Amino acid sequence: MTNMMRAWVVSEPGPISGSPLALVERPVPIPARGEVLVKVRACGVCRTDLHLAEGELQPRHGRVVPGHEVVGEVAQLGEGANRFRPGDRIGIAWLRHTCGTCRWCRAGRENLCLESRYTGWDADGGYAELAVVPEAFAYRIPTSFADEQAAPFLCAGIIGYRSLRRAQLPPGGRLGIYGFGASAHLTAQVAIAQGTEVHVMTRGLEARKLAVQLGAASVGGPFDPAPVSLDAAIIFAPAGELVPLALESLGPGGTLALAGIHMSDIPALDYRRHLFGERTVCSVTSNTRRDGEEFLVLAQRLGVQVTTTPVPFEHADLALRDLAEGRVRGAAVLTLPR
Ligand SMILES: [Zn+2]
Ligand SMILES: [Zn+2]
Repeated sequence: MTNMMRAWVVSEPGPISGSPLALVERPVPIPARGEVLVKVRACGVCRTDLHLAEGELQPRHGRVVPGHEVVGEVAQLGEGANRFRPGDRIGIAWLRHTCGTCRWCRAGRENLCLESRYTGWDADGGYAELAVVPEAFAYRIPTSFADEQAAPFLCAGIIGYRSLRRAQLPPGGRLGIYGFGASAHLTAQVAIAQGTEVHVMTRGLEARKLAVQLGAASVGGPFDPAPVSLDAAIIFAPAGELVPLALESLGPGGTLALAGIHMSDIPALDYRRHLFGERTVCSVTSNTRRDGEEFLVLAQRLGVQVTTTPVPFEHADLALRDLAEGRVRGAAVLTLPR
């Protein structure tokens, strides 16, 4: 292994049309105590990477390497790291550090830890040939999935799963899904497998076709009212204007979960039209490691089908542009030669 690698960095956050990412040569990172070095084989392209590139999410250090849906092979163990062996296939996800002692950590809600740190935001991520991760925050990847298929699980899948839990869907209930990208197409399958009736509201025609293929009960445009009164809804699109629409489609006692890390402004709500009847709105913040472990087991057991658009590593910037313009079917995944 040479000690240099190629990596994409956020050089100048701004509109994706202005090429905020740059492909650079960098020294290979050295795994610190308790960390492992991973040779990246696939890295999913998440909307959060786009928010970071465009500056809606302020990079926490200059020229950070995005990417937090990494599947790769353990290349080197840092001091004291003993959970994995060189050659093991593991995943690097969004959450990479929590304090372990605060009241949220102790209550099983480490996703809310005030000292939490994130891959591809606080620390360099997987838009690179190699990346490091604290071994305690890495995942074993179910063997039934190829690298490109498993990559979107690590954020899209896990956060979607947490969103579904936050939506408090009753058994056999009716779920509305707004936006149908990487996360939604995985979440919908879990919900459908559990007997949920899923209604999808999204702009892309390809996305609507995919929703029907995966068993959605109905598909419509993003601003169409749901065809039935919903028990729960999840908004995956970063569009605040959808919040009142989704709330109007909820029946009494329904819950609306907002799955994104960033959302445009939410318009003023009317108490009676949007909230009365004990309707609830909640956000979804990152995930716990337990969510991740549970989702990966479930994905394997349910045989979740992953629709990916593979993109060569060298074209990461184009993948983000396609995502911004709604041209990606399922999940875009950067692929690296073995
Ligand atoms: Zn904590
Ligand atoms: Zn993500």
